[in-house]
Amino acid sequence: MIQMANITKSFGKHEVLKGIDLSVQKGEVVCILGPSGSGKTTLLRCLNYLERPNDGEVTIGDFTVNCKRPSKKAIHTLRQKTAMVFQHYNLFKHKTVLENVMEGLVIVQKQSKEKAKETSVKMLEKVGLGSKLDAYPSQLSGGQQQRVGIARALALNPEVILFDEPTSALDPELVGEVLDVIQKIAKEGITMIIVTHEMGFAREVSNHVVFMDEGVIVEEGKPQDIFGGAKEERTRQFLKRFT
Ligand code: ATP
Repeated sequence: MIQMANITKSFGKHEVLKGIDLSVQKGEVVCILGPSGSGKTTLLRCLNYLERPNDGEVTIGDFTVNCKRPSKKAIHTLRQKTAMVFQHYNLFKHKTVLENVMEGLVIVQKQSKEKAKETSVKMLEKVGLGSKLDAYPSQLSGGQQQRVGIARALALNPEVILFDEPTSALDPELVGEVLDVIQKIAKEGITMIIVTHEMGFAREVSNHVVFMDEGVIVEEGKPQDIFGGAKEERTRQFLKRFT
């Protein structure tokens, strides 16, 4: 289980997260929705300490980090339990597709090159890129690059994969192939938290929807409840824009 308890985060005087409590069960696919600037990405980045929360507690599985005084070791342990898929892919430009996926396994997880290669090839085949192992990122479309990002996250075998607006940098015609891959892996029972503006996708793929506005969770629930009849006026107003 993943738990965020009373997470606060400010940038200067701007309080971006105002005491967030969020529980995610193992195997859940959670979509975080909300207007621009509501704090969705910051929340995701606080979960693996890419942003340092000011206060609160983060728990992943049986490991809890108190955000007031975390040790470096605690942050490292927390990060090892997560993998992130970034909006702009964040691939190494001078490494091949295969090397990009192997990197974390060899350098961070200290796996042998042989084992890392075996896992990486398997994951790249899973995202439909088995024929692109030796290509460089610049030779791929945005959709293909993002699928490499997803294979890289999967290969780490984390307790949770965090997706930060995985399709928002893509040309519209490339969005579908990435969403299809995410949907496919969602069915495998991997815990995923996805910040997205793709409402149709969120409705279809998630089993837990979180609506944020101005640094708080306004409402959360099953997709059929949120999309079918949200209780809060703010949620209804937001969703109305997409219908
Ligand atoms: P979007 O949907 O547009 O990506 P979001 O809901 O993900 O928005 P965040 O990216 O979490 O929102 O940003 C929330 C607020 O925090 C915004 O006002 C943003 O400008 C501010 N913010 C985020 N990161 C930083 C930073 N590193 N330094 C200063 N302010 C920041």
